[in-house]
Amino acid sequence: MMGERTVMQEALFYSFRIEDYVPQDHLLRSIDRFVDLSGIREHLKPFYSSTGRPSIDPELMIRMLIIGYCMGIRSERRLCEEVHLNLAYRWFCRLDLDGAMPDHSTFSKNRHGRFRDSDLLRKLFEMTVERCMAEGLVGAEGFAVDASLIRADVHRQRSVPGEQGLPPEAAGRAVAEYLEVLDDAAFGGATPVQPKRINLTDPASRWTAATREAAFYSYSTNYLIDLDHAVIVDVEATTSVRQAEVTAQRRMIERTQERFGLWPERLVADTAYGSAPNLGWLVEDRGIEPHIPVFDKSGRKDDTFERSAFAYDQEDDSYICPGGKRLRSTNRNFKTPRPLANADGFIRYRASQKDCQACQLRQRCTPNMVARKIMRSVHEGARDMARAIATTDAYLVSRRQRKKVEMLFAHLKRILKLDRLRLRGPNGAKDEFHLAAMAQNLRKMAKMRPMPGLEPA
Ligand code: SF4
Repeated sequence: MMGERTVMQEALFYSFRIEDYVPQDHLLRSIDRFVDLSGIREHLKPFYSSTGRPSIDPELMIRMLIIGYCMGIRSERRLCEEVHLNLAYRWFCRLDLDGAMPDHSTFSKNRHGRFRDSDLLRKLFEMTVERCMAEGLVGAEGFAVDASLIRADVHRQRSVPGEQGLPPEAAGRAVAEYLEVLDDAAFGGATPVQPKRINLTDPASRWTAATREAAFYSYSTNYLIDLDHAVIVDVEATTSVRQAEVTAQRRMIERTQERFGLWPERLVADTAYGSAPNLGWLVEDRGIEPHIPVFDKSGRKDDTFERSAFAYDQEDDSYICPGGKRLRSTNRNFKTPRPLANADGFIRYRASQKDCQACQLRQRCTPNMVARKIMRSVHEGARDMARAIATTDAYLVSRRQRKKVEMLFAHLKRILKLDRLRLRGPNGAKDEFHLAAMAQNLRKMAKMRPMPGLEPA
């Protein structure tokens, strides 16, 4: 039988609790169990005046930001509208039906002011790491590191050639931040190479052609993750060059130990992290196994003997060539002793000209030079260790596990929609990357530790 509504008039009073209308399996319900903002008022106290009109509750703004980053709502204006209309969002923000919403411009003021000055977003991110550790999601046996390019919020045509530099009239917050980080090893100090172009809107963003697409301005987000459950244990914003990403890796490993006492036995990464100095730092300074391909440019394409055809004699500190002759680092005695390694950190081992001139293998060894030369890094021990690890079964497992960090970046861009920044300057990138990493950790906990009664069968 076809039914018909019998209510002809609106009721005068309703009995309504938002709590009853938020589904038990809603993502925010699950996330809410892991969000403890009880300490933020105390943390922010020195940054608020003790007089004047009361501000918007910072906890409300942080809860709204968590919603924005967890649900992929990138516009602050839209976030305010969504929280206004969505009951689950209101519930998460502890807002009643008639609870007032802050204006979207309030976000901007607080982000650039108090939240940034107090380093609040870093504190919140670390809170999620501590909670993941408390939930038993961090094993700390193996870490993986990688970086991903995120487009800067700039117009590509508002730029000048790199060699021209910024015009003196350039001004603004992003320009001030650019000047501040000029000597920082994670930004301006990462490489002496001039960028091809400098953007006038956000000069610290890097013009990069690292992907297969056309070049664009970007920052890099660097993740250090624990391999057990792909929890992000640290995050760092850098300019988009390899040297800066290696600097970020070192900073993150040191900070993770300092803050959380986590020290990995092995580090998994791609060739970008396989330079001799970095492998030396990991193995010699930190005692971490490098599950990293060695960055080695000694390969030959002309069919002549590769470096691997020369055997190193540890006791004699010399190489033995396929012709059975010795290559030594010091064939001559100088009056003033010279350093063994050059400034690039490599020691040159040379065969004697006499041996090579008389050698029958010369055409297959060094057809164009008078004598063969082999370069050995001062960190060759660490490189050899990485080469040996690369032949083991454990390395094959590490290589598969490396995908976990790549999947986090894919999730960041596709689900959380952070493929382009909304904030400018190194601090804007830092804020966004902290919030996004925090959102990913919260979502991870919600998934790995489901609500009681909602566990998968
Ligand atoms: S050319 Fe020189 S280095 Fe090469 S195999 Fe002959 S002797 Fe050895």
